[in-house]
Amino acid sequence: MSERTYKSDALILYHRNLGEADRLVTLLTWEKGKITAVARGARKVKSRLAAGVDLFTHGRYQFHRGRSLDLITGQEVKEHFSAFREDAALYPYGLFLSEITGKLIQSEEPQAEPCALLLEGWRLLCDRELPDPILLCRAFELKMMELAGFCPYLEGCLQCGDAGALLFSPRRGGLFCTRCAESGTLRLSAGTAALARRLLEAPLDRVKLLRSSALQRRELAEAAASFRRYHLQIEKLRSLQLIESMKLPD
Ligand SMILES: [Zn+2]
Repeated sequence: MSERTYKSDALILYHRNLGEADRLVTLLTWEKGKITAVARGARKVKSRLAAGVDLFTHGRYQFHRGRSLDLITGQEVKEHFSAFREDAALYPYGLFLSEITGKLIQSEEPQAEPCALLLEGWRLLCDRELPDPILLCRAFELKMMELAGFCPYLEGCLQCGDAGALLFSPRRGGLFCTRCAESGTLRLSAGTAALARRLLEAPLDRVKLLRSSALQRRELAEAAASFRRYHLQIEKLRSLQLIESMKLPD
């Protein structure tokens, strides 16, 4: 293998069309972090690259270093999460995991833990036994934030340690008690604060044992959205818009 060629296991986060027949692919790789590379001719019917650069694919890829962008020159598909494509109701949840990962992980350092978490998240979402996919998404987001060094502090008041703290400050990234809180906090119910702690602490494959109320889901969604807006400058995610549009009217 020449010095300009390298290989890595990777997960396909997203892609977009480039020119007539190419694809610009964003991958999260075990060895080299998040990279964007060109898959030449991947939109041609007979392309040998096409299947390997679909969304929700886990594979081993060969790259060739280019002047500006690297090229994907070979691939071996290990796992293809086709359930996301076949089930329109499942697709936005798989996409949410990709979008959040892509926003949180920017580095070109090795990313073994984020890769393992995303792979596990996709596998769990494709498990038909999962009762509440949005809860898995919330747990995933907290865990990925922790890996990326963005995790909110949920153990008690950030200022004085009061265990009963329920006022969430998106700006400061944590909970405050009524004495220490500044303006601009969101009030959570005690059940929501406790659930958020469980979602962060529990292994991802145990989240399916947790249940949530409509109030808890709403409060968690608001806190997550405000935190994302403040710290990651994310106003909206396509996945969440799709999930919202699937909801039945009350
Ligand atoms: Zn306090």
